[in-house]
Amino acid sequence: MGGEGVVEQVFDRQKMVGYDGGERGLHSYEITVSAAYALNSLKSSSEIVDTCMRFLRDYYPAARDAELVHAKVVRMPRATYSERPGTAGTRPPQLTTVRGLALAGDWTATDFPSTIGGAAQSAELATRAILDQMPVG
Ligand SMILES: Cc1cc2nc3c(=O)[nH]c(=O)nc-3n(C[C@H](O)[C@H](O)[C@H](O)COP(=O)(O)OP(=O)(O)OC[C@H]3O[C@@H](n4cnc5c(N)ncnc54)[C@H](O)[C@@H]3O)c2cc1C
Repeated sequence: MGGEGVVEQVFDRQKMVGYDGGERGLHSYEITVSAAYALNSLKSSSEIVDTCMRFLRDYYPAARDAELVHAKVVRMPRATYSERPGTAGTRPPQLTTVRGLALAGDWTATDFPSTIGGAAQSAELATRAILDQMPVG
């Protein structure tokens, strides 16, 4: 929507949890921003809310006259790591030197960055690593 570092995804939280908005006809949305370096380091929470509202109003005409009754900014700068040239070698393989112990997680060595796809592949590789150690038959 706004591009990387601005506004990426808008989730209709109300629809997700089955809330009808009550008597006041409220709406609840969640906006996510990845690689939010500029937003996180340069802007206060109220500035972030203003920026997001500006985008929402631009892209969703029905939001233009909406009154904002509540907003919360949740910053998670360390939730995932940022892949940079040279960081691939720092990710450990799933197989460890301890028999019967394998590592899984998006931070281990996979073909993907820190994503659901990476987490899923790491689980598959970890499972294979354990199974390969088991005696056949
Ligand atoms: C805001 C946000 C948006 C994202 N959006 C996307 C997206 O759109 N697409 C995408 O592909 N990826 C996205 N990701 C990344 C994706 O969520 C992660 O890469 C993925 O969930 C990692 O999976 P995982 O199993 O490695 O770790 P996690 O999902 O973090 O699972 C680790 C689990 O271990 C538990 N745990 C930690 N320590 C302990 C302990 N000591 N004892 C017991 N349990 C413990 C934690 O509570 C957690 O439940 C997003 C991440 C965030 C934070």
